[in-house]
Amino acid sequence: MIKKVYKANILYTKERSRFEILENGYVAVDANGCVAAVATDLMSIDCENAEMIDFGDRLLIPAMNDLHVHAPQYRNQGIAMDLELMEWLQNYTFPEETKYADTAYAERMYRRFVRDLWRVGTMRSCTFATLHTESTRVLMRLFREAGMGALVGKVGMNRTCPESLSEPVEQMVQGYESLIAEFNDPEGLVRPIVTPRFVPSCTPEMLRACGELAAKYQLHVQSHLSENRGEIALVRQLEPESTSYGDAYDRYGLFGQTPTVMAHCVFTEGEELALMKKRGVMVAHCPTSNLNVTTGIAPVRQFLSEGLLVGLGSDISGGHTLSIFQVMVYAIQMSKLHYQRDHARSFLTMSEVFWMATKSAGSFFGRVGSFEPGYEFDALVIDDRDLNHDHYSLLERLERFIYLGDDRQIERRFCRGREIPQPVSIPK
Ligand SMILES: [Zn+2]
Repeated sequence: MIKKVYKANILYTKERSRFEILENGYVAVDANGCVAAVATDLMSIDCENAEMIDFGDRLLIPAMNDLHVHAPQYRNQGIAMDLELMEWLQNYTFPEETKYADTAYAERMYRRFVRDLWRVGTMRSCTFATLHTESTRVLMRLFREAGMGALVGKVGMNRTCPESLSEPVEQMVQGYESLIAEFNDPEGLVRPIVTPRFVPSCTPEMLRACGELAAKYQLHVQSHLSENRGEIALVRQLEPESTSYGDAYDRYGLFGQTPTVMAHCVFTEGEELALMKKRGVMVAHCPTSNLNVTTGIAPVRQFLSEGLLVGLGSDISGGHTLSIFQVMVYAIQMSKLHYQRDHARSFLTMSEVFWMATKSAGSFFGRVGSFEPGYEFDALVIDDRDLNHDHYSLLERLERFIYLGDDRQIERRFCRGREIPQPVSIPK
């Protein structure tokens, strides 16, 4: 039964090649928080007894999904951006993640993180935590309290990392099982996701145990793939029997045996790309991070033409901005740099990056990221009056908000049909 009908200027991407635009349109939402209908004509919707909410001239768009972000690196956002990957990890990332052994510290930081994700309009995220089980639990509870969707990964790591960030395999498994026991609901908004940090930081035993956890509890998997040439060479050394970096995950059941997303894929090609396609492994494209830690330009156009699903990730703190709108801008700009080198592959368009951030990334969380009937109603109401919209089309208004706007224009946020108020205050 239809519970609410929202009226606004509606924009979303059913297909990646173009926007669906409904001037003064209606979205009807049922009691389960799912879209029941979307139309320009109210008469076509059977909505007797439904509550009508009129957002006037505002824009109504699907909420953002962040497919790759490191919550414990939030404090490092915007610092050490003049280093390359390995130096940045050793000197900044690992020391900060070590602090999450202290759950009080974790709670203080994670409250900020969840509040700021809310602020930038990201209602679902695929998040790395640290290896610390109790701090990871704190983050999951904060997401649950907020009513925001998240797949949260306790990080598996036990080699090529500082002693303080290494955990025995058995302890890792027990930690996961205790989180699974608390967040067991397959329909729940917040769920654990199996998260080996990346092949170089996991022994074969750790990778095998991760694959077994994913299979046993039917959990999603996330990790990093082919971000940097040094890393790829290291994987070749550590897993000599694997035919590619992707194959090193595949051998342990961590490459699409359950829904899987791999961040970066800057150097993914040939056999690895074919395997991703075959297994339906998603790409989390993180253009800001690729620039900041100088890894390279991912061949996103090729991924799309090969039929791979690509979403966008902020990759805090390799990436410097939590806003997926800003990440969209960088994705277009990076693809234009790629185009300058290779005119055979066209650069990305606004509808394509919007689709990547909404319907494509959303598919990792279920039926999320579109206003088609049956999709969970995750939405943002954008009041762009201060961006002088008078003489622009609806699409131009959206584009200007993406390029010029920020959280000040995001007036309301919805996740699975529920309006989400600002989460938890930040302790002084
Ligand atoms: Zn990452």
